[in-house]
Amino acid sequence: MKKLAIQGGEPVFTEVDRERVNEARRWPIITGEDEAAALEVIRTNNFSGTDITEKFEREFAAWNGTKHAVAYCNGTMALAAAMFGIGLGKGDEIICTTKTYWASVVPATMFGATAVFCNVDENISMDPKDLERLISPQTKAIVVVHYLGYPCDMDPIMAIARKHGLKVIEDVSHAQGGLYKGRKLGTFGDVAAMSLMSTKSFAAGEMGMVVTNDIKIYERVMAYGHYDRNNGKYIKSEELEPYFHVALGGVKGRVNQLCAAMGRVQLKYYDQRCAEIRKAMNYFYDQLDRLPGLKPLRVDESTGSNMAGFYAPIARYYPEELDGLPVKVFAKAVSEEMGWGGSCYDGVNYSLHRHNYFKTFDFNHCGGPSRLANAQRDVRELDGVLDDVEQKFCVSMPWIKKFDKELIDRYVQAFRNVIENRDQLMRQQAGGDGPDGTQAGRWYGFENQ
Ligand SMILES: *Cc1c(COP(=O)(O)O)cnc(C)c1O
Repeated sequence: MKKLAIQGGEPVFTEVDRERVNEARRWPIITGEDEAAALEVIRTNNFSGTDITEKFEREFAAWNGTKHAVAYCNGTMALAAAMFGIGLGKGDEIICTTKTYWASVVPATMFGATAVFCNVDENISMDPKDLERLISPQTKAIVVVHYLGYPCDMDPIMAIARKHGLKVIEDVSHAQGGLYKGRKLGTFGDVAAMSLMSTKSFAAGEMGMVVTNDIKIYERVMAYGHYDRNNGKYIKSEELEPYFHVALGGVKGRVNQLCAAMGRVQLKYYDQRCAEIRKAMNYFYDQLDRLPGLKPLRVDESTGSNMAGFYAPIARYYPEELDGLPVKVFAKAVSEEMGWGGSCYDGVNYSLHRHNYFKTFDFNHCGGPSRLANAQRDVRELDGVLDDVEQKFCVSMPWIKKFDKELIDRYVQAFRNVIENRDQLMRQQAGGDGPDGTQAGRWYGFENQ
């Protein structure tokens, strides 16, 4: 019997493994080429220009397989611009899953729109079967988040959207370059927006990107936050012409060209680096799949879909297969067992419909949250069935970027140790729970809580 690290035993990874762990988990991968590109911007002192950004936009659009791309200073602004792009406004309803990072949907409230929350399925992914009950004459759009790299089931989602005349915004912040049935994510909806910030799968410092094939959406996205490109050189629309030369959203969304320069270099190697991650993670998960209690989140690649760069990987957790071992105790024990290898956290993002922002915060003095004050119905009544989301336990997995077989085998060993020696843990109590005592997880980030 192995004495678990949490009981004072030796962890699987110790300080001597530090270099090797760092090498396999380092992200983004920065080389001399990124440094040279950044240095060039510094030397030309053209941080606020758009020449490099425009090159990056053209390359990104070509890579993504869309006609247009507009860069923004971050993903949150890119999502806001996409919402302006489709013409979201006061009283419109927008449907999004409740299990996502806040920026997928909170920007909608800037436009006075109503957030309506949808349930997730077994894969913590938008459940198409939950969509139709949420649609009303006020519904304008669906925000589809390819959450934690898992491609949403786009066929039924697009069929429902088209049937009801709804716009679709894809939030690709976790899944840049991923595929659904052989087709690139971010090309299914009317427009897609994503974060390219430093911790994301596609990491270019602080940046966001909007991609679309629709020229009208493209021009509105440009006019929203780019005062210096809201002009006749970039925008042909007669509707927008009287409003040239200011940013129509009253925000400045320009990219610091240090990030655009880095983005160009990252793009060159992104697909090949993601392929390496998929090789490593699939090898890792093939072994974890044989253990009880865990089911890593991934997609069957033989369908032509994939998990892009396996951003923030997780596994579903089934305590009933492990004598009822509470998820928090399991996660803590795995963290200790991995030692220098990293940490394991329970849960994912808290459910957004539970955040006070949607309950009481009156952002633009419209008499309450826009979700309630500007709505034609009490959308809180739709939230009831979302509670079963909380029953879906999960734990974070180590995000491994390099196919280092021996190292991955040792990660498997850490999980196996805890699972096989769980009797040492059964008397440990689960810690406190989330904001209203029912949730596992955090509002954002695995490291930030
Ligand atoms: C990170 C993230 C965003 C926002 O991007 P930022 O670059 O941080 O502003 C939006 N949606 C999702 C799903 C995200 O994870």
